[in-house]
Amino acid sequence: MPGSEHQPRLPAILTVDDDPAVSRAVARDLRRHYGERYRIIRAESGADAVEALKELKLRGDTVAVLVADYRMPQMSGIEFLEQAMEFFPLARRVLLTAYADTHAAIDAINVVDLDHYLLKPWDPPEEKLYPVIDGLLEEWRAVGDRGMPYTKVIGHRYNDRSWEVRQFLARNEYSFRSVNADEPKGRQLLEAAGLDDSQLPVVITEKGEKLVAPTDGELATLLGLSTSPSLEMYDLAVIGGGPAGLAAAVYGASEGLKTVLIEKSSTGGQAGRSSKIENYLGFPFGISGAELTTSARRQAEKFGAEVITTQEAGRLKTGGVGAAHSIVLNDDTTIGARAVILATGVDYRQLRITGCWDDPDDPACNYIGRGVYYGASVSDNSECAGEDVYIVGGANSAGQAAMFMSQTAKTVTMLIRGPSLEAGMSQYLVDRVKRTENIIVRTCTEVIDTVADGDRLTSLVLSDRQTGETETVSCDRMCCFIGATPRTDWLEEAGIARDDHDFILSGPDVSKVSGWMLDRPPHHLETSVPGVFVAGDVRSDSAKRVAAAVGEGSMAVMLVHRYLAET
Ligand SMILES: Cc1cc2nc3c(=O)[nH]c(=O)nc-3n(C[C@H](O)[C@H](O)[C@H](O)COP(=O)(O)OP(=O)(O)OC[C@H]3O[C@@H](n4cnc5c(N)ncnc54)[C@H](O)[C@@H]3O)c2cc1C
Repeated sequence: MPGSEHQPRLPAILTVDDDPAVSRAVARDLRRHYGERYRIIRAESGADAVEALKELKLRGDTVAVLVADYRMPQMSGIEFLEQAMEFFPLARRVLLTAYADTHAAIDAINVVDLDHYLLKPWDPPEEKLYPVIDGLLEEWRAVGDRGMPYTKVIGHRYNDRSWEVRQFLARNEYSFRSVNADEPKGRQLLEAAGLDDSQLPVVITEKGEKLVAPTDGELATLLGLSTSPSLEMYDLAVIGGGPAGLAAAVYGASEGLKTVLIEKSSTGGQAGRSSKIENYLGFPFGISGAELTTSARRQAEKFGAEVITTQEAGRLKTGGVGAAHSIVLNDDTTIGARAVILATGVDYRQLRITGCWDDPDDPACNYIGRGVYYGASVSDNSECAGEDVYIVGGANSAGQAAMFMSQTAKTVTMLIRGPSLEAGMSQYLVDRVKRTENIIVRTCTEVIDTVADGDRLTSLVLSDRQTGETETVSCDRMCCFIGATPRTDWLEEAGIARDDHDFILSGPDVSKVSGWMLDRPPHHLETSVPGVFVAGDVRSDSAKRVAAAVGEGSMAVMLVHRYLAET
């Protein structure tokens, strides 16, 4: 086997490049950083590399990452990666390209489901190579590291708490295996741990530690996350750890504010649920929501922000102009802050049918972002040109999405559980929807199942709620708008002004409602309470996009500075 050393059971990182100097350089850099934990195998042709993979397969070894040069004479990097997928489909795939070949790398996303392309030269590796490979290894360990010890979560398939425990770990990118208690392996593990299935869910860590029916707080501790604030007083308290809150924490802390972020569950928010965010700037290959937001949490912590998870802000007591605000947490801890940013987002419900939700028991079967979309349609309607689109829901957001997409889609079918559109949608929109030729409205209809080709949604199974008849229809894209509720009920006491749907008003909109007491107008993202700002989806009239939430979170910090300078 070219360039390999015999270190049984270590997973492999395989690199192939026809230029011996480049091949040696990649292997050298990889070995320097990963040599103790991975076998670095190098080959100088696609054919040699395929042979090496066959040998690894025969020995029962695992391959974590494949790094292939794009331009190789007999077998291109893409052809090699395509063949490699037959042997090690879970290995992460990286294409090594020259700047001029970037377009080919981007095309390769569709052919070999490429995870990353690396531009040559990759110097310094600390900046350009290792962060990429680290991220890929982390992803690979989460699903494809069969040869190493791993944490097990034993639970019942359809048990809420088992589901929540798995969700919590997954959203924090903690790698684990899910074991069902009613399967032989689950029973064996429970017996070995001296437990029974009345104590589920049970987490057994790599080191053999047992967590019986753990709370979120206990899980957070297992993951090394903070669950209680260290100070009584901060410059800035950010409530909510989705993209808006994380951005606020990064900018607040990096700009010298003593910053605390309070998140009731795990950081990531709705974005953390997205299997692939494809429209976030700077990620041409898309990025998983968990990866994006876990990196953001680390970045905030790096700058000194305290990120507190599993603590819900239950009350906000405002202190008057210039005075500190108090936030009471669910364990009755009270913290003070000179300024507050509310970034509590909204809740979109997910359809609990095949591939349409983040099923921890079957993470591979997830079409979210691959034909199934929540709370948003398309950012540019050319994306759905010629498609048969289905929209689930009958509120204004669904109507607006239908109108927008009907401009380019072949057909847009709205699926409404109730008997009429009028029940949930403004009349002007109902009229427009009805006037649009390629929008079809199906009332008393719900989606009960999906059909996919690989991991891409292709059809829906619909059921007529009146007759019970079912029908399978071909579908390119299903956008669900089945409820987005702002999380603002806890702000009652603070008197934060909200719109008719409970989203938080800010800036110029605040001036329109009574209660603004200062001579100056409210700052752009300032709520009706001076010094309390809002960012992201929870803001009235927000864009409901990751980039918008991140932008608002960052901008709110600038306005916090302005407010603090005035007081
Ligand atoms: C499945 C899915 C896919 C999506 N895909 C895309 C996409 O591809 N591109 C895109 O641009 N947008 C996408 N979106 C929309 C995007 O995720 C949201 O616009 C974005 O997450 C909003 O960020 P946020 O920080 O405002 O709120 P959220 O992400 O909702 O985060 C709010 C956070 O606040 C916490 N919280 C709430 N109340 C409290 C409290 N009282 N105390 C403490 N914490 C609290 C919540 O637990 C949550 O973590 C998607 C949404 C979903 C659901």
